[in-house]
Amino acid sequence: MNSKYHVGIGMTSQRTRDRLITRLEEKGIRNERVLEAMRMTPRHLFVDEALASRAYEDTALPIGHKQTISQPYVVARMTEAIIRDGIPNKVLEVGTGSGYQGAILAALIKDVYTVERVEPLYQQARRRAMELGLRNIRFKLSDGAWGWESYAPYDAIVVTAAPKEIPEALVEQLDENGRLVIPVGRTSEVQDLLLLHKTKDGIVKERLDGVSFVPLIQGSV
Ligand code: SAH
Repeated sequence: MNSKYHVGIGMTSQRTRDRLITRLEEKGIRNERVLEAMRMTPRHLFVDEALASRAYEDTALPIGHKQTISQPYVVARMTEAIIRDGIPNKVLEVGTGSGYQGAILAALIKDVYTVERVEPLYQQARRRAMELGLRNIRFKLSDGAWGWESYAPYDAIVVTAAPKEIPEALVEQLDENGRLVIPVGRTSEVQDLLLLHKTKDGIVKERLDGVSFVPLIQGSV
């Protein structure tokens, strides 16, 4: 067995993980499937070993390359938003980062596609998914502001880095009745976490929360 599975019994114990789940419930996360996916997913394996003892705190943590693994509460909130009226079959994530949000999605959704622009993060996330036996995630190294055309349309799209405006390509790659959850705004300010629902009468937009994400960087990799 991979030695990473054994880092410090205390921090990986089910009790430590359950405390995080209690915290998420206190903050208003109600969806049982989301809570269960988060209970089962070993977040300490998605950060550097030096930070593993903090993996079950409800905070974002650095993952190198000026990027962060998202805060568990925000991961839960975004996941809840796209499975509101049932579980989608096909989801695109923009901003793979550590691969943690992707792993949560993969626990719930049949086909997960994820795009990252920083090569070492892309490589590492792929390796982690393989080690964890997550076979329903496909990874791509590219600028995710363009989506991932070859597998479009998607039932849901989750963007984990903040653009100043919603990239048009992402709305286009959403299937009818699809949902897009995306933080929008400047990094220096509180960003709006938006939920867009594509209906036959047009796009319905809702603000879910105020959040703080790293910027979505557009342009070549
Ligand atoms: N979902 C991640 C969060 C990572 S932070 C997790 O659970 O760990 C956001 C990520 O978006 C970073 O890894 C960053 O490199 C990536 N990113 C920023 N701009 C991007 C773009 N245009 N296309 C793809 N990925 C991008």
